[in-house]
Amino acid sequence: MTAIPILKERESQIYQKGTQPFQMKCGKHSLAGSVSQRACVFCGSRVVLYPIADALHLIHGPIGCAAYTWDIRGALSSGPELHRLSFSTDLQEKDVIFGGEKKLYHALSELIDIHQPKAAFIYSTCIVGIIGDDVEAVCKKVSKEKGIDVLPVHSEGFKGTKKDGYKAACDALFKLVGQGSTEGISPYSINILGEFNIGGEAWIIKDYYRRMGVEVVSTMTGDGRVDDVRRSHGAVLNVVQCSGAMTFLAEMMKEKYGIPYIRVSYFGLEDMSKALYDVAAHFSDKPEIMEKTKEIVREEISHIYPELQKIKAAVQGKKAAIYVGGAFKAFSLIKALRYLGMDVVLAGSQTGNDTDYETLRDMCDDGTVIVDDANPLELSKYIIEKKADLFIGGVKERPIAYKMGIGFCDHNHERKTPLAGYSGMLNFAKEVYLTVSSPVWKFAPARQLSVNSDQLLTDFNPRPNTEHRTLNT
Ligand code: SF4
Repeated sequence: MTAIPILKERESQIYQKGTQPFQMKCGKHSLAGSVSQRACVFCGSRVVLYPIADALHLIHGPIGCAAYTWDIRGALSSGPELHRLSFSTDLQEKDVIFGGEKKLYHALSELIDIHQPKAAFIYSTCIVGIIGDDVEAVCKKVSKEKGIDVLPVHSEGFKGTKKDGYKAACDALFKLVGQGSTEGISPYSINILGEFNIGGEAWIIKDYYRRMGVEVVSTMTGDGRVDDVRRSHGAVLNVVQCSGAMTFLAEMMKEKYGIPYIRVSYFGLEDMSKALYDVAAHFSDKPEIMEKTKEIVREEISHIYPELQKIKAAVQGKKAAIYVGGAFKAFSLIKALRYLGMDVVLAGSQTGNDTDYETLRDMCDDGTVIVDDANPLELSKYIIEKKADLFIGGVKERPIAYKMGIGFCDHNHERKTPLAGYSGMLNFAKEVYLTVSSPVWKFAPARQLSVNSDQLLTDFNPRPNTEHRTLNT
């Protein structure tokens, strides 16, 4: 059998449980030439701030950066939709030579006049960091002239990992927090952090809290509003879902306003219920909240349970590979897939930290491969070697799954179906069932060979210009 090779410098970021001592490295800059699945710093900040629907989002840089992240989350709004218009200063060669500050000033002023946003976020991209535009000064000037917050987001793509982009977004958000009045906010109130309302999930979650008797002051950032962020320091508790992205903000709010935070996940029956119970437990001085929570959990699970059992019987024993942005999502996915009787053979993330990978190690079965900041070749290798039937990931993982001839489930930006909450778990189970049981895979070239995966490995040649086109079609 010819094994697909791993780049030597990448070996320390891959671990196979049960076969070697656990010494995984993570949080490193992506290896040049390895074609990382990880997005850039700018993209990290963009995905966090983008769903704020009444803000102007202006990307200061060449048009490609804006095109790359255009409507990136497709996040839904119950009101304004200014966030879906991505604007760019479209820097050209002349601007690179003479500077882009004037262009930024004019673009910003014009856009604010036309769209009357509640605030504006100005994203710095790679080239802006290189030519040294004083974005901060332009933002200050326009803010003064127009009377709104114009917030620079220091997100030059080259200056770190996607995680640094999350941090830049949290720094910008934190400038808004504390500006609004907290009058009338309930003593049983929370902010939802790290829920982006892709497919309307924030609405599902908010409805659970409403039924529990808990007020949601602000959702950051799904279906987000600038004024809600401004008064979010009036909430009693921060409930953080996408912890990789939003823990920075939760920490800053804890330090400045004394607001505690808890980490939750709204995905899968177990984690969804735990999230609601943990919030109810925080308000233990009002036992009715816990009583109501128990009722909601019972009611919601009883609705979906019979259908989930049918799906479980159909997908039991199938093998899944997971590669997601934040590791916390991987934890929930592993639990949800286990609930369906499936095995996880590969689990990886773009931005996991040491603790995340230790948790993954403890959760996974022997033989599972855990990978940090993977590239397409590594993901393909383990899909083949571990004989996965399903790949769960985002937009960049979809073509890998299809080339391998296996089912794919989008758990990231592109999907339109809510996967959070109890109804979301049923949607997820249905998607898993439909994709893994689709007859189409038997026509995929890779699958025809993967009847014998050893043969597929023998035929696989990662170098271009060969006659073997098995996996490149
Ligand atoms: S910020 Fe830099 S790395 Fe990111 S999309 Fe723009 S040019 Fe590419």
